[in-house]
Amino acid sequence: MLKDSIWIVTDLDGTLMDHNYDIEPAIKTLKWIIKEGINLIPCTSKTAAEVENFRSKLGLSSPYIVENGGAIYGINKDLYGISEYALGKTHDELKPFLIKLSKQIGEELFPFEDLSHSEITRLTGLKGAEIELAVARLWSVPFLNPSKNALKELQKISLIYGLDVVQGNRMSHLIDKRSGKGQAINKLKGIMKKPNIKVIGLGDSPNDRSLLEIANISIVVPSPQGPNNCFVKEIKSGKFILAPAPNAEGWSQSVEMILRQQLVG
Ligand SMILES: [Mg+2]
Repeated sequence: MLKDSIWIVTDLDGTLMDHNYDIEPAIKTLKWIIKEGINLIPCTSKTAAEVENFRSKLGLSSPYIVENGGAIYGINKDLYGISEYALGKTHDELKPFLIKLSKQIGEELFPFEDLSHSEITRLTGLKGAEIELAVARLWSVPFLNPSKNALKELQKISLIYGLDVVQGNRMSHLIDKRSGKGQAINKLKGIMKKPNIKVIGLGDSPNDRSLLEIANISIVVPSPQGPNNCFVKEIKSGKFILAPAPNAEGWSQSVEMILRQQLVG
């Protein structure tokens, strides 16, 4: 049975959703996946509150990975004994490090949650109550992208503190080194006792690298301008597959093609 052998693990922003958060072109495929009972596992920078909103709109009941692999929620407690699992430090433990790192690299790192609502709307397109859900961080500290030179230095220094900096399509995120999308998928495999589950991974940005590296079938979803430069090498070598269209349309076509191949195979 397809539903017992496959997980679809997907990033949301820039992958299943375009820059307007539209998933309309993928609705038919999403409904099919849900009807088949296949685990569709969101794996995102978003907060649990934001993903809960997304899940309830779709009627999704699979587990979900939030804040770049900071925590896993939605685990079936009756079957697995826990409903959530945190991989690393909390937001409140992480935030002082952002100030420390700012001083060390000599460049101000500005936390997303400290921006005004109008600045958040300009940066993300989110409005009103959506902003409240997006800033309710528990496991990561998103901040405005640093300069290119500072990023490398920042990632190097972060490691000394047992931390990591990953980049999404809008922002950078300070997380615990033990967190990360790939690490969270591995942890979830352990919790659900599914070491050999086939993972179809979909992502668009550098913060999806660990998800795509760990997946059995890895799909890079492009924006209308093309795929993120950081994956060009893997797409050329055939290690990662490039979706045939941007965002939800490309997501949908790739997932349908792979699921049909699995059904036949
Ligand atoms: Mg993304």
